[in-house]
Parts: sequence; C-alpha cells; structure tokens
Amino acid sequence: MPASVRAIRDAVAARSVSAVEVCRAALDRIGAVDGALHAFLRVDAEAALGRAAEIDADADLRRKPLAGVPVALKDNLCTRGLATTAASRVLEGYDPPYDATVVGRLREAGAVIVGKTNCDEFAMGSSTENSAYGLTRNPWALDRTPGGSSGGSAAAVAARAVPLALGSDTGGSIRQPAALCGVVGFNPSYGRVSRYGLIAFASSLDQIGPIAASVGDAATCMNVIAGPDPRDSTCAPAAPEDFSAALTGEVKGVRIGVPRALVAQGSDPEVISAFDAAVATLAELGARIVDVALPHSAHAIAVYYLLTTAEASSNLARYDGVRYGHRAETATLAEMYERTRGAGFGLEVKRRVILGTYVLSAGYYDAYYVKAQQVRSLIRRDYEMAFEQVDAIALPTSPTPAFPLGERTSDPIRMYLADVFTVGANLAGLPAVSVPCGFSGALPLGLQLVGPAMHDAMVLGIADAYERVTPWSSRAPAIPPR
Ligand code: GLN
Repeated sequence: MPASVRAIRDAVAARSVSAVEVCRAALDRIGAVDGALHAFLRVDAEAALGRAAEIDADADLRRKPLAGVPVALKDNLCTRGLATTAASRVLEGYDPPYDATVVGRLREAGAVIVGKTNCDEFAMGSSTENSAYGLTRNPWALDRTPGGSSGGSAAAVAARAVPLALGSDTGGSIRQPAALCGVVGFNPSYGRVSRYGLIAFASSLDQIGPIAASVGDAATCMNVIAGPDPRDSTCAPAAPEDFSAALTGEVKGVRIGVPRALVAQGSDPEVISAFDAAVATLAELGARIVDVALPHSAHAIAVYYLLTTAEASSNLARYDGVRYGHRAETATLAEMYERTRGAGFGLEVKRRVILGTYVLSAGYYDAYYVKAQQVRSLIRRDYEMAFEQVDAIALPTSPTPAFPLGERTSDPIRMYLADVFTVGANLAGLPAVSVPCGFSGALPLGLQLVGPAMHDAMVLGIADAYERVTPWSSRAPAIPPR
C-alpha cells in the first residue's frame, strides 16, 4: 500500500490501487492502533468508503491532487454531516450545517475524510489532556502526551493511521504536537488559509494547517487549502504561491538567524544539542548562520495568555445553550446560561474565560489588554528587524520532548511554558514549520523554522532541504497493541 500523500494520489490516479483499498487500509490501521492511542473522537467508515468508491468511479476526481488520500480533521473544524465538538461537552452532538472552507477544498481535491481527531477543549492546551472525551497517548511512548492542542491529528499521522491531518495553531498547536510525535506540522502565515468554519479560540492568532509525515506532503496539502475566501475577511486576497514548486532542496546562501539567548532559556540539554546539530546540518548545506536577537520574546508567553484569554472570553460567549449543543433545562433564562456553561465547559476553559473577562474589565483593560497589545507590536517589530538580516529564524519547537501524562495538569503555568518557542510566530502572524530533527532517547524532537509573513513556501523549502539529508522524518513508532 502506498504510504505518502503523493504516492497514494499517483497510485489512485493510475488505478494501480483503488481509493477504496486505501481507505480500508487506513480504517484497519485506525482499528489496530486507536485502542492504545485514542487519537480519534469519531470515525465515519461508511461515509469514507462511500466517498472512496465515488472517486474510484470518476475519472475527473481520480486526477485531483488528493485523490483517494485519507485525511483526519481536528474536531474544531466544522464538517457537514459529521459531529463537531472541539472536544467540549458544550458542543456535544453539534452537527454543523456546513463545511469549513478547508474541508470543502479537501473534499473537492479528492481527499477522503475518515474522521475527527481529539484535541484540547476549544484548542486550549499543550497536551490534549483538556479534552472532555479522554486523553490521547503519544505513539512513541504511551505514558506520554502527544502534545497539543492538535494531539489527535499528530498522533494519527505519527502512527501511520492517516498520511495527512489538519490541525489549528493559535500558539503552537500544530507545531508542538508534530514535534512531540516526530512528524511535520506547518502553521501558515496569518491570512494564508481561510478560517471559515474553524471554531474560534483567539481570532487574531488562529490558523489552520497541515500535519503530515513529510514536508512534501504538507506542501501538497497547502496547495489545496490555501488562498482567498470571500467568507473570511481576514483571509489574504492575493493568490497563494505554489508550495510544492518551492521544494528545490536548495538552501545555498539562505541566511538563517539563531536567537541564542532565547534558545538557551529553559530548554533541555538534549533539545539544545539536537537543535545545534540541525543548525550545523543547514550550514553544511550552504546556509549562512547569523546571530539574531528577539529581545521582547521574553514577554511572549505573558502577552499570549493575556490576549488569547481576552479573545476567548469574547468568542466563547456564544455558548449559552440557546443555539448550539448542550442546554441545561431550567426555569429562568439566566439560570439556563449559568448551568449550561457551568456543566458544558471544562476547568481550563473556565479558567481562561475568567482570566479573559478580567483582562477586558473596565478597571484593568488599559493595564493588561492594551499593554499586551503594545508589547505584541514590539515582538512583531523584533521579527521584522531580524528579517532585515536573515531569511528565516531557527528555533527548537518545544523546550522539552513529550512530557509524562499528568505531569503538568495541576500546574497551568508550567503547561503554558511549553509554548515559549511557538507563540512568537502567532503573535507576529508568521509562517512556521516544525520538522523532525532527532530524538531524546525514544522521544522525537522538532526543529522550527520561522519566516517573514507570506513567505510560507520559502520556509517549507528550507525544511524540505533539511529533511532530504536527515533520517528523522522517515522513522515511525512501533505501537504496542492494547
Ligand atoms: N498551548 C497553547 C494554548 O494552550 C496553544 C494552543 C493553540 O495553539 N491552539 O493556548
């Protein structure tokens, strides 16, 4: 059975394998591994096999760029006819009347949507432990987190259950789980991919992007999902680049900035040595390594958690029991709101709604919300100044490898610190990819490359050149049955 996105598509187009066979193989693999992992919240085998049969029967569909490719979707992406919960009780049983734009584009491109993946509730978290429907395990070590919040998508790809999944990234939720699961994750520039139909968390940062086993497969997906959308006014009107065409394997003369002071902050020694080796590999390929400073990044976590809680408190006000999902039946309207939200939201979501309401409250708005916006501008300016000297910036994706399940659930600040290297790109709206760069024992590590806004293809190009000369992306975990 062909394994990569490209190989599946070509085999289906050439009819050397049928989309139905590919779909069956994915469903079998999910059946074999998901008891141990719980990467999926919902698998729709019947719809998937039905769509695969349609593709097999239609010569036009078989030539599409994702013909017959099984895809898993993070459960905060709206899918028509397939429940969408964002891993929250408050959306239990919610059946969206429409597809997210990216979902529609995947379907048109011939992809076969097999199911919805587990995540932190409303994408708030770094470990997938904040799901209302149980945690997901890391395929490389079942007692560890797959990362989060798109942990189910990353675990499903790492376990080779699907070759491609979508996640969403507000502060690292595509890149960090990709790094912790040994796969590739890409957070596009803000505005490059439509968010219509993405359940909003923090709208000034949220992005949708691919998780795949290789940079090439992530680029193929970007060619399908990127581009203007009249339904999302924040989506850039310019036509996207050809992401696959940018993967030339060439990085000679490319200037890569390394913010040493930031990297040293709180990283495990194994993370630093794998990162140094990755930078050395890029230098051997002909890249020029340059020291850069991102002085305001020291405040990135604080700024991120002020702004995202503020935006979340506003975005989540709509879950009141009137229109969506769970409703507590009570005598009065006020009581219905209270009980619906009280029972429907989990602890982390409540923590963030309360924090965000405080940040936006009359007496504290200037001290917290306005101040955080000002520091966000400084963080963005640091990146802009760095990009006057370099083409891209290299960082570890995560300061540690996958941590043990349960280790940080009672210590939110410690959990938040997992995002120290990823939130900067979101605050500045920049494209950033995580590509596997080695192991700490049995646990994978990720190299992150961040580029200037709308230079998504270049960032993918550097990651691809690195991937071609290193063995890390081709390794897959052996998952014990359970
Ligand atoms: N871990 C970060 C948070 O908890 C990022 C989440 C995300 O990118 N969706 O907010």
